[in-house]
Amino acid sequence: MPVVSTVADPLDVGELGFTLMHEHVVVKSPGVVENFPFVWDREAEIEKAAGKLREAAARRVKTIVDCTTVDLGRDIQFVAEVARRSGMQIIACTGMYYDVPRYFHNRSADAMAELFVREIRQGIADSDTKAGIIKCATDEPGMTTQVEKVLRACARAHRATGVPITTHTYAAGEMGTCQQDVFEAEGVDLSRVIIGHSGDSKDIEYLLRLIGRGSYIGMDRFGLDMFLPTADRVATIATLCRMGHADRMVLSHDANSYMDWYERWMIDQMAPNWHYNFIPDTVIPALRQAGVTDDQIRQMTVDNPRRIFEQCEPY
Ligand SMILES: [Zn+2]
Repeated sequence: MPVVSTVADPLDVGELGFTLMHEHVVVKSPGVVENFPFVWDREAEIEKAAGKLREAAARRVKTIVDCTTVDLGRDIQFVAEVARRSGMQIIACTGMYYDVPRYFHNRSADAMAELFVREIRQGIADSDTKAGIIKCATDEPGMTTQVEKVLRACARAHRATGVPITTHTYAAGEMGTCQQDVFEAEGVDLSRVIIGHSGDSKDIEYLLRLIGRGSYIGMDRFGLDMFLPTADRVATIATLCRMGHADRMVLSHDANSYMDWYERWMIDQMAPNWHYNFIPDTVIPALRQAGVTDDQIRQMTVDNPRRIFEQCEPY
């Protein structure tokens, strides 16, 4: 049975179970808590995150994919400790968000790919914790020189290791299509890519084009109603399920336990449903209400994640 790296032991893909495919544990502005450690209580935040993931585990969530890259303040010791305390299976990522650090501006895609491959094969920083997925991002500014370089680096690391790619997109600008173009130019099998944040769009034509080229689409921002209300997200998934595409969608929240971009009360006020329990508690019943079958729900939450990670041959 193929095996996927987690922040604890490697896992048989058959053990993934109910998987939230795009979440975060801790999102930080790089350099801030390292230099101003008093702005947070690290130990308290570890315990808080473990508590939230224990609540999700009680709802049968077995695995989360943590899409936090180095430029989002990835903190692998924090995440590993949260996994230990909560029992949640957590898959860490390599790759880069779209705030490409200056370090990389005058270095090549291959140099970047080499670092990603190291995180997949050897471990992240000085740990032996390996990345199990590769993340990249294209937002409103589009396919800038630096962002395109990141995508090419991710494509090369993916082909060298067989580890899948997951993305962040600005769906309103149809950035998923631009990403598929770059991946295709790099010889990537698009069925090994999840075009993330596609669930921010209710444009069925756009979503069908992404699926038509073979990719999975991430319906993965439940609780972020400012981008698209829950009812529209549910209706879009139900429509695609009716059209026979439950085998191409994965579900998630893109939530976090700690994020320093805002004060916590601002997040709770802006997006009260943005947490790990919203899908099990509210979205799944709403999908059933909208005519999505239990079989299709299992496909999106269990079978598709397993299929994504079991295809792990380099090419
Ligand atoms: Zn995210």
